[in-house]
Amino acid sequence: MPELPEVETVRRTLAPALGGCVTKVWTSGKSLHLGREVDASALGDAARGAKLEAIERIGKYLILAFSGRDQVVLVHLGMSGRLWLQRAGAETDPHVHVRFFFEGRGGDIDRELRFRDPRRFGLVTTARRGFEREHPALSRLGVDPLVARAQGGGKSRLAQALVSGFRGRTIPLKAALLDQRTVAGIGNIYASEALFEARLDPALPAKALTTSGATRLARAIDDVLLRALENGGTSLRDFVAGDGTSGQNAEYLRVYDRGGAACPRARCKGTIERAVMQGRATYFCPRCQRRASTAETP
Ligand SMILES: [Zn+2]
Repeated sequence: MPELPEVETVRRTLAPALGGCVTKVWTSGKSLHLGREVDASALGDAARGAKLEAIERIGKYLILAFSGRDQVVLVHLGMSGRLWLQRAGAETDPHVHVRFFFEGRGGDIDRELRFRDPRRFGLVTTARRGFEREHPALSRLGVDPLVARAQGGGKSRLAQALVSGFRGRTIPLKAALLDQRTVAGIGNIYASEALFEARLDPALPAKALTTSGATRLARAIDDVLLRALENGGTSLRDFVAGDGTSGQNAEYLRVYDRGGAACPRARCKGTIERAVMQGRATYFCPRCQRRASTAETP
């Protein structure tokens, strides 16, 4: 599933679409996430005849804003969704669900932005511009680490959010990181990576995270996300950016998908374990990621 670094990579690689005028919007008519149909007329109203003015991101959501329109288009890539820019009219397939056609200089349609989603867990919908955060999909999202970083004080803001967001919560630390309400944008890969970097046991009840643990975790989240972003995201199965390129971060992952391997931490003699927590594979080193009872020891 694309996480913050992958979605941000898509956002950046779609920059060449900015300024282009949408002449036509096509939808497959098939339902996507939670059986919701893509509303073709709402998408048309938000984009047709307007220029693509901005592409923003909050957590794993992309927000496409068009000139003079009071509705924006929200896109979530779900499990296997892809959004990319290509030459208009190229061969298509039944997994393509939305196409925004752009007008070229000569007035012909020359490029299109396509949304393809074989597993149909993605979402393409509209929200009121300037009030995106009030949309049900975005209203409960926590701090976006990259946005916090851009606004300054990212890591301390993140650490504070972790402490207050996890207060009283008995679910495992890893599950609390995945639920988007405290930190937006982290998924299965970077939750395992960040907890490893911070030397925290994924099974630790979220409420047991100490202030120093939260500081370490905030730093680890920042580090793993930035490294992944620099590498263009992680392409394990099918992630590709908006320009069709694959991410190179998979080789930099330290624990994710490395069950049975030696712990990469210097001088640790542990072996990476794979456990299933709340239905999701979790990778950790039982030796250097501390158990709850020793979480307080420095
Ligand atoms: Zn270890």
